[in-house]
Amino acid sequence: MASNRILVKGGKVVNDDFSEVADVYIEDGLIKEIGPNLQLDNLTNLRIIHAAGKLVIPGGIDTHTHMQLPFMGTHAIDDFYSGTKAAVAGGTTMIIDFAIPRKGSSLIEAYNTWRGWADPKVCCDYSLHVAVTWWSDKVKEEMGILARDKGVNSFKMFMAYKDLYMVHDIELYQAFTCCKNIGAIAQVHAENGDLIAEGAKKMLSLGITGPEGHELCRPEEVEAEATQRAITIANSVNCPLFVVHVMSKSAAKVIANARREGKVVFGEPIAAGLGTDGTNYWHKEWSHAAAHVMGPPLRPDPSTPKYLMNLLANDDLSVTGTDNCTFSTCQKALGKDDFTKIPNGVNGVEDRMSVVWEKGVHSGIMDENRYVAVTSSIAARIFNMYPQKGRIAKGSDADIVIWDPEATRTISAKTHHQAVNFNIFEGMVCHGVPLVTIAGGRVVYENGVLHAVPGHGKYIPRKPFSDYVYRRILQRDEVCQPVPVERKPYTGEVIKIM
Ligand SMILES: [Zn+2]
Repeated sequence: MASNRILVKGGKVVNDDFSEVADVYIEDGLIKEIGPNLQLDNLTNLRIIHAAGKLVIPGGIDTHTHMQLPFMGTHAIDDFYSGTKAAVAGGTTMIIDFAIPRKGSSLIEAYNTWRGWADPKVCCDYSLHVAVTWWSDKVKEEMGILARDKGVNSFKMFMAYKDLYMVHDIELYQAFTCCKNIGAIAQVHAENGDLIAEGAKKMLSLGITGPEGHELCRPEEVEAEATQRAITIANSVNCPLFVVHVMSKSAAKVIANARREGKVVFGEPIAAGLGTDGTNYWHKEWSHAAAHVMGPPLRPDPSTPKYLMNLLANDDLSVTGTDNCTFSTCQKALGKDDFTKIPNGVNGVEDRMSVVWEKGVHSGIMDENRYVAVTSSIAARIFNMYPQKGRIAKGSDADIVIWDPEATRTISAKTHHQAVNFNIFEGMVCHGVPLVTIAGGRVVYENGVLHAVPGHGKYIPRKPFSDYVYRRILQRDEVCQPVPVERKPYTGEVIKIM
C-alpha cells in the first residue's frame, strides 16, 4: 500500500469536459502521465491497478462539512478522523470545513483552532472556510490576513441562528464589501433568523414540541426570502455569492433567476436534500424524525429532491456538498421535549458520491461528465484550486477514484464508516460504488478495506481572486460603473428654505 508509484490501467478517465480510455501513472502524490497504453521503463516498486470497464474520476470534493463542531451544548460526533475516513470510503478525497468563531472572538484564533483539530487527524486533504459571526474593524483586518497569508478565500455569514451566529443586513453589506476587496467569495446560510425565532415560539405555544415543529417554524419562504436578500446585497457591491445548502424549490428558483439576470451567484444543494425529504419530520418514531433535523430543514414536498437535481444538471445550481454535521440519537435527545434544542445536522460525507450518482446519473438526469463537474471540478474552480484538484490531468494531485457505475450497494448505519449511529439514507440502494480511492497518491480504500492514515491529508491553501469567480466581477468594475450625465448647470430660481 505504501508504494509511491501506481499505474491505473485501462479505465475510462472521466473529466468534466470529456471521457477517454487511458492509463494514469501516479508518482509521489501527483499524476505524472496520462495516455493509452503507457509503457513504463522502470517497473520496480510499481503497483498496477486494472480498471478496464470502470470509470476513473477525480476524487470528490465535499464543499461543506462540520467535523467535531461544538454546537448546541455538544459537539458533532464525527471528528476529522472518522469523518475523513468515511469520506474516502465513499469516494471523496477532499473536504472543506468551516472554522466558526463565537461572536466577539478572533477569526484567526478560530482558524488556528480548527487547524489544530484537523491536521493530525485528516485522512485526506482539506481546506477551511471561515465564518464571520460579528463585525468590527478587527474582523475586517483578520479577513484580509486570512486571505493573504492563510489560504482562506471564502467567508460564510449566517442569516439565521439568532444571537449565536446571525448577522444583520448592514453587517452582511460590510462583510460582502470586504470579501470583494480581498478577492474572496462570500457564502451565506440563507434563512430569515428573526422569522425562525418567532415561528419557533408560535409552534411551541401551539403545543408542537416534536421535530415537525422544526420545519413548520421555518417554511420555504423563510429560506427563499433570505436567499433573495443576500443576492441583492451582494450584487449591490458586485461581490460574488455562494449560497450554501439550498434546500427548497423556491430558494433554488431565486438562484436560477438571479443567474439568468447575470448575477454572479452559485448554489450548493447537499446530499441530504438530493437524496431524501422532509416528510421524515412527521415520522411516528421521535428518534427517526429528530435524526433529520438540520437547518434549513429538508422540505416536505417530496418532489423537491428531483427538482434540485434537475437544476444541478442544468447549471442553475453548481456544486454538491453535504453539511455533514452528525449527532447520535442520545445527542439529538437533548431536544426530546423541545425541537429547538435538537442539535442540527445530518450525515452525508460518505454517501454523497453514491447518492448523486444514483439520483443524478443512473436516473438519466445528468451524464458522467456533469457528475464530475458537480462533485469536484466546479468546486475546485470556485474555490481556486483547479486543476490541482477536480481534474485528472498531468501535474494534478493524485486524488482519484476508480468507480463502478454498474455495481450497487445498500446504504446503512450498520455498515457505514461514520461514527454516528443513524444514516438518513438507510436502505437506499445506490448504483455507483467506489472500488478504489487514491488520496494524495496513496491507496486509502480498496474493495471495502480502509487503509486511511490520520494526518496523511494536507491543508490546501487557496489563493484569492479565483478566475472562475472574479474575472467577470473585475471586468464589470472596469466597464460597468455608472457615470454622471453631462449637463449645463441649472441657473433658474431656487426656492428659499426658512
Ligand atoms: Zn453548515
